[in-house]
Amino acid sequence: MTYQSKPLPFSEIPKGLSKKAVDIHHDKLYVGYVNKMNEIGEKLQALSETAFSGANQTYSELRALKDGETFATNGVYLHEAYFDVLSGAGQAQGPLVEALKETYGSLEKFVTIFSAVAMSVRGWVVLAWDTNIGQLKIYGADAHNQGGVWGCLPIIVLDVYEHAYFMDYGSDRGTYIKDFWASLNWPAANEKFGKIK
Ligand code: FE
Repeated sequence: MTYQSKPLPFSEIPKGLSKKAVDIHHDKLYVGYVNKMNEIGEKLQALSETAFSGANQTYSELRALKDGETFATNGVYLHEAYFDVLSGAGQAQGPLVEALKETYGSLEKFVTIFSAVAMSVRGWVVLAWDTNIGQLKIYGADAHNQGGVWGCLPIIVLDVYEHAYFMDYGSDRGTYIKDFWASLNWPAANEKFGKIK
């Protein structure tokens, strides 16, 4: 099955980011992951018996494809979840906000912790509903296919790879994160939370 790339879910460029940076992020990087995901899927379908019998954990065709598969697929899903909440009014309200207050003591505390995790990882920070324990959790990942936890449904996702902010913020990741909260799409986050619940 060929996966179709999704258009950006917003027209208003989020605070602090340029249209050029957002367009490159979506049109080149995200769409590039979708294309690779499809290419890898086709190659896996077409693998011959030789590829299965020659499977090897140091190097083999199957290993390279399976490694690329999780990298590309998570690259697609994480970017979609990030774009979903990237552009909004930053008005924190709704059932998710209430649940965050309950879990973290206050919304400010949650934002502080999430932002600190965003400074401490190299790729992604994710507020997820962890279905294993039935709780909201903040997880961090250094790469698309590292640090993800099985059974977690992403709600608020932030891309902290340098490509996400360097063009507009230079090395100032802290301000990029601050601006993320200022224009977060809380209604979209609440909708995800509602569907999960
Ligand atoms: Fe990215």
